[in-house]
Amino acid sequence: MARFRRSKSGAGDLNDATRGIAFVFVDGLGLGEAGQAFNPLLHAGLDGLRSLASCGWDSDSFSSLESPDLVRRSLDANLGVEGLPQSGTGQATLFTGVNCAQLVGRHHGPYPHSLTRPAISKHNIFSRLESRGLQSAFANAYPPQFFDYVERTDRWTVTTRCCLDAGVRIRRSSEIAGRAAVSADLTGLGLRHPDPSVPLHDETFSADTFSGIARSYAFTLFEYFMTDKAGHRAEYPRAIQVLESLDRFLGAVHRQLDYDQTTLIVTSDHGNIEDLRTGVHTRNPVPLIARGWAAEHFRNADTLTDVAPAIDAALATPR
Ligand SMILES: [Zn+2]
Repeated sequence: MARFRRSKSGAGDLNDATRGIAFVFVDGLGLGEAGQAFNPLLHAGLDGLRSLASCGWDSDSFSSLESPDLVRRSLDANLGVEGLPQSGTGQATLFTGVNCAQLVGRHHGPYPHSLTRPAISKHNIFSRLESRGLQSAFANAYPPQFFDYVERTDRWTVTTRCCLDAGVRIRRSSEIAGRAAVSADLTGLGLRHPDPSVPLHDETFSADTFSGIARSYAFTLFEYFMTDKAGHRAEYPRAIQVLESLDRFLGAVHRQLDYDQTTLIVTSDHGNIEDLRTGVHTRNPVPLIARGWAAEHFRNADTLTDVAPAIDAALATPR
């Protein structure tokens, strides 16, 4: 079972490397207080998310839990900086373990700030794992126009910048049909305008693809940003639709993964969709779920800075 390691490893390493981590990063998903009419997380049909977390998704129900195969935490996304958290610094922090909001002196986004580029380059989770010979995948599918755009502008998101710096392949929308890449909206609908060859599919198809990729790599990341977009639109029916779509995806991933082999991590960079009174981010805590063999490594996580080091430590731990 040598599939996660590059060639130079000894036999002991090969046995250590058969377990992986699958990370679903959900943009703009915070925990609001219970009983609030404007919080769609309290009113959407979220059986999959409830089953995954073994609780409801508000700050009262989502209490800290530490069991051998399920850890639940609320993370601080404010990072000791005033103002509303933003994706550029929040995601850079999440994927490096370095407090990038403090590096910049403020929250910044949605694209990475120039002052955080060295931290992203040196400490991003893909590179950290690669330096130990562990292979990562970024599961999202991008249309041809994305590649034209970044070539022209050199303007990368945090996750694609991490891929670029670590040499992780950015997958193409043409790979969705063959189950080698996941559409960002989980159904392909949003990609059919830029790439009409993308087949329409359901969230279970996306979950099959994601789980399949995750079985072949030490670390697999999928980024879901429809939650943040829906939060900015602040339209209740749209927010419910997006959350229920995410719920179908995560519910299916939850059913499909063998947690002895693959740990599922779900977390966010900042709040947004849980408060539809405004179309801006919030200072609410974000949920962290770690489910599977590596869960215990996340039991002391308190802020966004604690996630990447926990992934690193979990995958460094001999079986
Ligand atoms: Zn946003």
